[in-house]
Amino acid sequence: MRAEILAVGTELLMGQIANTNAQYLSQRLAEIGVGVYHHTVVGDNFERAVQALQTAKDRGANVVILTGGLGPTEDDLTREVVASFVGRSLNLSNEIVEYIRSFYTYRGLEMPQNNKQQAMVIEGAEVLHNPRGTAPGMYLEQDGVHYFLLPGPPTEMRPMYEEQVQAILKRVQGAAALVFASRFLRIFGLGESAMEEQIRDIIQNQSNPTVAPYASEGEVKIRLTASAPTEAEAHALILPLETAIRERIGRFIYGIDDESLEVKAGQLLQAAGQTFATAESCTGGLIGKMITDLPGSSAYFNGGVVSYHNEVKQRVLGVEEAVLKAHGAVSAECAVQMADGAKRVLGTDWAVSVTGIAGPGGGSEEKPVGLVYIAVSGPGGTTVNQHQWKHGDRTQIRLRAAKTALYSLIQ
Ligand code: ATP
Ligand code: MG
Repeated sequence: MRAEILAVGTELLMGQIANTNAQYLSQRLAEIGVGVYHHTVVGDNFERAVQALQTAKDRGANVVILTGGLGPTEDDLTREVVASFVGRSLNLSNEIVEYIRSFYTYRGLEMPQNNKQQAMVIEGAEVLHNPRGTAPGMYLEQDGVHYFLLPGPPTEMRPMYEEQVQAILKRVQGAAALVFASRFLRIFGLGESAMEEQIRDIIQNQSNPTVAPYASEGEVKIRLTASAPTEAEAHALILPLETAIRERIGRFIYGIDDESLEVKAGQLLQAAGQTFATAESCTGGLIGKMITDLPGSSAYFNGGVVSYHNEVKQRVLGVEEAVLKAHGAVSAECAVQMADGAKRVLGTDWAVSVTGIAGPGGGSEEKPVGLVYIAVSGPGGTTVNQHQWKHGDRTQIRLRAAKTALYSLIQ
């Protein structure tokens, strides 16, 4: 199957909204083995939309999913565009008029006349119900091309895809339907290019499974995707490749799929029946936020001290004045006392601390922007590491520091 996604809407071209519908649909279609070959965006313009359909057809698409332009206003013309392209008429469906009227009545409102436009159905099309909005979708087939018309708002479009479109596509695919399975290997402490160097020969010439590395803020993920008639068979294809990759860089792989650093930290602490706390300076509470974004984190996270000012480092965490005088707040000595202090004050088994210079100002020759000390205080003692990030702005340095702190904790 060759699918294309055609998003209709001038606001997409103007950059007012991102085309998340195409992203969503591509991900979902991949799961059922439908290859997406093109994403197209056109404004609310009749000729250009028709032209986009012609282009899709000419290059061999047999599934075209359109989103947007099904509303009741003048510029919503997806229905007209498709009807004209396939040479069929648009007919008023009284059933849909009544449905839309009931939608308004339920809200105590009168149905505006122009809403009737949404009740126009292309001759021979199957109506796709939209329980979350007024614009119904449509499905039709012409000359071997399957057209789906879906509304623009993602809250309406997504459930319609899941509840209706997917079933139709599977039916159309028949016995040829493939299942895609993916597995993400999560890596920390190894850059993208260093990683690629180590596994280049393994990932070269792979077609099923495919291997795709993604880098984001100090983290690298490798996605392994395989297709097969069943999910179990797809996973069986992934396994040997994963094993080969682990043999090379296994010590940098800290988790799989959705196991982020904070999830992993939570799992390990919970399994050990232990707790932890934070003492954050330049990250300003970011680690605490990442941890508490996870529901249930109170089981292992007691809390944290945002010790941004030296006085708080001293008064709350017990960092010695002599340490601050001799080494400064951005120092290994201070990081150690911050972590030890947080562990003691908050009564936990573990504590991590972060102190550094996130920039853009505040750096010096001796202590440049990007210099960060991270200490981990645990049952067996305290360790501290110095990091120097040479690139990145304030946000990136803080995020890297927070992730590195969590990574240090799970070591
Ligand atoms: P409505 O009945 O709400 O007018 P519609 O089918 O006419 O629905 P549009 O008018 O094209 O859809 O878009 C309505 C809204 O849906 C947009 O303002 C935008 O917020 C969202 N939307 C539209 N297209 C996309 C897209 N491709 N990706 C993400 N959001 C989108
Ligand atoms: Mg609209």
